Amino acid sequence: SRFKDTLSKTQATTSSQHQNSTTNRKAKAAFVVLARNGDLEGVLSSMKQMEDRFNKKFDYPWVFLNEEPFTDEFKKLTTEVTQSSTSYGLIPHDHWYQPDSIDEERATKARAKMVEDRVIYGGSVSYRNMCRYNSGFFYRHELLKDYEFYWRVEPNVRFFCDLDYDPFLVMQDNNKVYGFTVSLFEYKETIPTLWDTTKQFIKEHPEYLPADNAMGFLSEDGGETYNRCHFWSNFEIASLNFWRSEPYMKYFEYLDNAGGFYYERWGDAPVHSIGAALFASKDQFHYFEDIGYRHEPFQHCPQGELHSKGKCWCNPSENFDYEWYSCLKQFEALFK
Ligand code: GDP
Ligand code: MN
Repeated sequence: SRFKDTLSKTQATTSSQHQNSTTNRKAKAAFVVLARNGDLEGVLSSMKQMEDRFNKKFDYPWVFLNEEPFTDEFKKLTTEVTQSSTSYGLIPHDHWYQPDSIDEERATKARAKMVEDRVIYGGSVSYRNMCRYNSGFFYRHELLKDYEFYWRVEPNVRFFCDLDYDPFLVMQDNNKVYGFTVSLFEYKETIPTLWDTTKQFIKEHPEYLPADNAMGFLSEDGGETYNRCHFWSNFEIASLNFWRSEPYMKYFEYLDNAGGFYYERWGDAPVHSIGAALFASKDQFHYFEDIGYRHEPFQHCPQGELHSKGKCWCNPSENFDYEWYSCLKQFEALFK
């Protein structure tokens, strides 16, 4: 099964990387943290764990992004918690705020309806800005221009296990574009027209889809309907160059013109997942089964040998992988 393939590949790469660490081979990669100044405490908590579990040994830089200037306190404390370099970027105004092309009256009505329907973040404009930014802009930030891969880190997440190999090199050496730990279903209320818009785009650009894409992760009927499966984007180890490539950039532009980031509440998770699943081949995804990770309210806890190998401290019986709401089985089915 795919499960064992992934496992043995990871182990093979791990042992080769022990040699690599003596030659100090590194990827062009960084941690990327989008955060507000008010997120400081949660950011420090996530960073400290990442440093202790992994980065003390591997020394990858941290890049922080914000639509407002970071405070001196934010910069001081996040710099103190790592030996690696830290940099702080301001997001260009037009990459963050709602574009003028959006009909504000229509957007206001849509938000009010979502509040009524109790959709999570349904009334929030800033959340929509964030989702649009993560979908289409962060990878163009000047501070990221020399990097090829990133690991997205959010405030208040947990990393449960020691990682003694370099996941960026796993991505690079195996030509991967997207690495994940948790996948699940999206709320249908947030994306009423995302799939129809996507289908129109595919019709206009069939040449962007490789024959061995991962459509099977997104749809049980060959692309007619979206099953709402997506990778949980609060954890991503992925390729910046992939998001910068023509198919994804054009796809984002198409979605942005349709206005669904504001008229609905399209999340960066389904947008990334759909874009990657359609425009990359299925072998370019990597399930980081050995990385123990929690973002409320779900966690992936490595099982069996992986749990002991990583000296993980999560309870192995608390594991989202095969809960009914998980899409891991849809991912594995791609390889059966
Ligand atoms: P959730 O995980 O979907 O509940 O959303 P979060 O509140 O965790 O936001 C996702 C990411 O975007 C986190 O890294 C937040 O720190 C960041 N974020 C959310 N809203 C804003 C915002 O208005 N400004 C900035 N700079 N970052 C934000
Ligand atoms: Mn979050």
